[in-house]
This record gives sequence, structure tokens and C-alpha cells, in this order.
Amino acid sequence: MTRSTFLDQVRQRRESWDLAVVGGGATGMGIAVDAASRKYKVLLLEQSDFGKGTSSRSTKLIHGGVRYLQQGNVSLVMEALKERGILFQNAPHLVRDLTFVVPNYQWWETPFYGIGLKVYDLLAGKYGFGRSVLLSREEVLARIPTLEQEGLRGGVLYHDGQFDDSRLLINLAQTAAEQGACLLNYARVVRLLKDSEGMIKGLAFQDLESNEEHTVLARCVINATGPFCDELQRQDDPEAEPMIAPSQGVHIVLDQSFLPGDSAIMVPHTRDGRVMFAIPWHGHVVVGTTDTLISEVSLEPRPLDGEIEFILETASDYLAHRPSRADILSVFTGIRPLVNAARSNRTAALSREHTITISESGLLTIAGGKWTTYRKMAEDCVDHAVVLARLDERPCLTQQLAIHGAPQGPNGAGPLNVYGTDASRIEELVREEPKLGRLLHPALPIIGAEVLWAVRYEMARTVDDVLARRTRALFLNSNAAIAMAPAVAGMMAVERKQSQSWQDRQLGNFREIAACFQVDQKN
Ligand SMILES: Cc1cc2nc3c(=O)[nH]c(=O)nc-3n(C[C@H](O)[C@H](O)[C@H](O)COP(=O)(O)OP(=O)(O)OC[C@H]3O[C@@H](n4cnc5c(N)ncnc54)[C@H](O)[C@@H]3O)c2cc1C
Repeated sequence: MTRSTFLDQVRQRRESWDLAVVGGGATGMGIAVDAASRKYKVLLLEQSDFGKGTSSRSTKLIHGGVRYLQQGNVSLVMEALKERGILFQNAPHLVRDLTFVVPNYQWWETPFYGIGLKVYDLLAGKYGFGRSVLLSREEVLARIPTLEQEGLRGGVLYHDGQFDDSRLLINLAQTAAEQGACLLNYARVVRLLKDSEGMIKGLAFQDLESNEEHTVLARCVINATGPFCDELQRQDDPEAEPMIAPSQGVHIVLDQSFLPGDSAIMVPHTRDGRVMFAIPWHGHVVVGTTDTLISEVSLEPRPLDGEIEFILETASDYLAHRPSRADILSVFTGIRPLVNAARSNRTAALSREHTITISESGLLTIAGGKWTTYRKMAEDCVDHAVVLARLDERPCLTQQLAIHGAPQGPNGAGPLNVYGTDASRIEELVREEPKLGRLLHPALPIIGAEVLWAVRYEMARTVDDVLARRTRALFLNSNAAIAMAPAVAGMMAVERKQSQSWQDRQLGNFREIAACFQVDQKN
């Protein structure tokens, strides 16, 4: 995967692409994998880095969604649980079985949640991860010794999937590339091209590194821009009604001491009726999330003070050692691409989870859904695109398609295990140059070789790409990430033959981005 090779492919191609996908998040990348594996010619364009939007800012769960079960949405839960099973099989290095404990403080909670979670097990059928069981108070505390003990009666244990979202995204990009897709990051779609009858025939994009504009022809343009999809719809039709009702969700990251061990906490009903998780992730604890309607969509959304307070208060109801602002190592915010219900009656179908619409000029927009169901969303979307673009029909292959990095046997252990089969190639870099094995910061298990790997083989272009999405430093510990940034910029500059002023600009940009991951201590 090198950006210059992909750019050459774009320059050289005179014919139409079968599909041009706008947006390099879970939705767009899933479509690229699906279409390329069916051997369609597919181009994917992402305005920033792959996964820069919502797809690196999730709760990191591959799940059926206990919340949807509470709402009685059985078919949705079943579809997601099936997809969970498929992803576990195709990306075993990235999806793991995690046990969740629902702590019970009221007499009715254990039977109530116990029965609900039995139904959850049942719906997973052959894709199940393990059975839910009722726990005594002692068993709950043995799993989560830091839980608030006062009034604790017992709990319910169940299983779900956990993953590293942006790592999966990069592995999907590698899979798409191996299947023949052409992928460009830092390529912003600026215009849709139409023929004399007003039908879309391609698009223009700007290479944000060179500022050069390129035009490409495509038999079908797919708008997979998640929370940004109204912008592209308005480029197609300035009168288009907004489709997205954006809502943001915040997570805070704490030290592992707040939740030692390997079990997560699931709070099914917070004081204001939401679901809240505290989850062990990469040696830290992720706690969230919120659901706040917002009026503007941005690539670097900021948490609201009230959202941070709400998470801290809820965590304090359940944790014996109450976290404060000073304990927050990092905070991250993502925007849900929720489809506005008012628009849904104009849609051209599909599951209640995601929505596919086709405009009068032929722009295919896919929105909604969740990470867990990205594969099914992609299958549905490509099936629609094939009809729209009058392409030869070919069956979807992704149910059985191993994702880049998937090991044949058991996956290795240690901090590099998220790379799957690539871990040995990163270790090879360290053998060739032992100083690349040094930690970049004592607080995080990230080594220099990962920076080189990201630049050489994973299309990392900026310090933010390396520290936020190729490694998860910025998400785990923002101060450590800021401290690592000069060394990362230096290594990248050597690898990419960039100047000192490039490094300075990178550091300035990164500090601005990192500020969105930090919590103001004065409040
Ligand atoms: C707080 C939160 C927690 C969540 N937790 C979970 C979870 O635990 N499990 C789960 O299954 N799901 C979860 N989800 C849902 C899931 O993360 C999203 O459904 C999914 O990531 C959306 O992916 P996307 O590709 O549609 O959007 P995005 O990831 O936002 O991708 C859209 C991309 O389009 C690009 N783009 C926009 N305009 C242009 C343009 N003009 N040219 C080129 N590119 C453009 C953007 O830069 C962006 O990268 C969560 C969501 C949120 C907000």
C-alpha cells in the first residue's frame, strides 16, 4: 500500500471506474473490500486519514447491542450477532471475546438482566461466544475488585466482542488493496461530474498533499461519508433535505488500576436511562459513552464539559475509587451518523440499521449502521450499486474472506499481537536495527519500529496518523502522545525525506489535535 502507486493508478486510468467510494471509514472501506473482492474496479477517496472520522472513535465493541434487545429489536440484534461471529472468524487477531459483568444493586436486577442476557445468548445461536451466568456478590468482586461494594447483591456475566477499530480499518484497507482496490487518503472530493442529462458520471477530488485537482469517471459514485453525508448530497442537489441527525458520544480513558483484570462493566440503565460501559483496552480503561445532539459536524469534535461530568459521576456510582478529572488520561469524541427518521420513508430499503438512498442523478448514499455490521452494509450497498451501474452481477465473497493479518493458527501474544501476521515483520525491523525496539514513551508499549512500519506499509502520512490511528497513543494517553511526537516526527521525516519545517508544521498540527483529547483541569 503506497500512496504514490495509487496516485499513479488514478492518473493512468482513462476508462471509468466501476465504483468510486467517497469516505474511508468503516462503511466506505467495507464497500471497497466487498467490491474489489468481487473484482470490480474500485477507487476509494478519503479527505483525511483512513478512519479519521467516527470509525476510530467507537466504544470498541463488536456486539449485538444489549440496548437494542431492551428495545425489542430482535432482528437487528440477530444480524449484528451473526456479523460478530463472522468477524471473529475472519479477523481473530483483532476481535476478542470479552466478559462483561452487569453489577446488580437492586433485588430485581439479577433475574431481570439474567433472563434478558439468556435471550441474547439464544439469539447468537451458533455464533455465540459463551453462555451468560448469574454471579454471587463474591464472584462479582472476584472479577471486579474495584467495584462499589455498598449494596452490591450479585451480578450477571455475559460475553461480547471487543476490537481495535482503527487497526481493523487499516487491515481492511490492506485487504482491499490486496484485492485490487485503489485507495487514497488526503484526497477530498470537491465536485460531482454530471453528463448532459444531469446524471453523475464521475467526480473531482483534490490531493490535499499537492493541491492538485484530479477528475475521474465512475459508473457509480457512492457517498459513504458517514456524519458528513449531507454535504456531498448537497453538492449533488443543493435542495437536498438533511439526512443525518448528528449526535456525539464521548469516552474517557483511565489508568488500568480503576478496572484491573479482564472483565468489563456494563451498566444497562444510567440515571438518565443510557447504557454505560467501562472496558479494559490496551492496558487502560475506556469509559463511556454519551449521546448529545449537535448542530455541526467536524473532523475533530470536542467533548462538552457536561458530558465529561456525566461519565465521571456514573463511573463514581460503580467504582469504589472515584475517578476525577485529574485521572483522565485522554478523552475522545465521535459523531454518530444517525439517519433522521423523517427522511427514512424516502429510502430505497434495507435493514432498519442502515439506510441506502439513490438520488435522481444517481448518487448512492449509505448512512447509519454500526461498525459491527460494516460487512453486511457493504454487501447490501454493492448489490445496489451493481444494479444502478449495470455491472455484471457477481456474488459477495466477504463472509469467508480472511482480513489482512489474520493468522492461520493461534495469534501471538504481546503488544504487537494486534498486527496479527504482520507482527513478525515488525520484529524483523527490530532485528535489523535494534534501537527500533525501544519504547517511545515509558507509559505506552509502542516501539519505533511501529512508526516505520506505519509509514512504509500502512500509508501513514502525518504524526497524527501514527499516534492516533496506526498506534493508539493519543487515545490512550494524550500527554504521553504529545511527548512522543517529536521523535515520531523525526523518524517520519527521515523515512519520507522531509525537511525540518515539515517536522515543525507536523508538531504544530499535532499539538492542536491533541488539545481535543485533553481535559481542562481547572473546571
Ligand atoms: C461514540 C460512538 C461509539 C460507537 N461505538 C460503537 C461500537 O462499540 N460498536 C459498533 O459496532 N459501532 C459503534 N459506533 C458506530 C460506528 O463507529 C459508526 O457507525 C461507524 O464508524 C461509521 O463509519 P462511517 O464510515 O459511516 O463514518 P466515518 O468513520 O465518519 O467515515 C466517513 C469518512 O468520510 C470522510 N469524508 C467526508 N467528506 C469527504 C469528502 N468530501 N471527500 C472524501 N472523504 C470525505 C471523512 O473524513 C470520514 O473519514 C459508535 C459510534 C459512536 C459515535
